[in-house]
Amino acid sequence: MIKKLIKIIGLIFLILLLTVLTQVGGIILLLFLLIWKKTLNKIERLKTARKIYRLGIKTGSFLIFYLLICLFIVPILARPFGRVPLPMNHANLQPLNIMTCLLNRHYVTEELLDATLSATEDLNTVYPGTVIAYLDANFPFIDAFPLLPHLSHDDGEKLDLAFLYTASENGEALNDAAPSFIGYGVFEEPFPSEQNQPDFCKNKGYWQYSILGSLVPQWNKSDYQFDIERTKALLQILTKEPAINKIFIEPHLKTRMNLHSDKIRYHGCGAVRHDDHIHIQL
Ligand SMILES: [Zn+2]
Repeated sequence: MIKKLIKIIGLIFLILLLTVLTQVGGIILLLFLLIWKKTLNKIERLKTARKIYRLGIKTGSFLIFYLLICLFIVPILARPFGRVPLPMNHANLQPLNIMTCLLNRHYVTEELLDATLSATEDLNTVYPGTVIAYLDANFPFIDAFPLLPHLSHDDGEKLDLAFLYTASENGEALNDAAPSFIGYGVFEEPFPSEQNQPDFCKNKGYWQYSILGSLVPQWNKSDYQFDIERTKALLQILTKEPAINKIFIEPHLKTRMNLHSDKIRYHGCGAVRHDDHIHIQL
């Protein structure tokens, strides 16, 4: 009895976790368990196999089932909801971390996809061979279903992009690369002479503002140099995209890059700091 209860609580927790992380993972798991019960679980050899072996087969089968649905079915179903996946292997635009796509966190409206691709193309006319790395976008379905921890990424109209970097070792321009493996949490800190918004927010009691810096490993930081030239060019191009309405970066970087567009705004202390990535929205 207690064993069964623990199993049910574990299953509910797993479904919730998959829903928060991937939006559709919980539903896919339920569907898989139904199919499992009606088909594979009836195979005699599997029924009598050792528990660990059975668990391995079950987990492996679920992962394959999940991947097939996310790669081939979800993009088709997302279209009527006005969302399309960002490209996984485009010449100018790629995910920094493939997990962004495997967790369905790379959906945007067609308008935002077109504007982003147009900006990366324009950047390539100035800096050929540049590949922009994208971070979290939105889930495939339903408005007002936030992609945690980004509360505003809930309508297909928001997208985060990584900064551009050069290698500290030889100054070589890096592409689809960032010091943080998730793209967040390794900051391009304000110089002592610059406006220090992160300190200001921290002193006002906004503990979450810089929290990622203490959660994300910093060991790659010294290998990467902020590529001010290419990042500035990217931001200038983004501000000229008619569909893009707002861009968030930290105020000290806006000043450092000598950018003046009204589209580049400050996001407020209630968000998290933006000196590790660029946020764009329609
Ligand atoms: Zn964002």
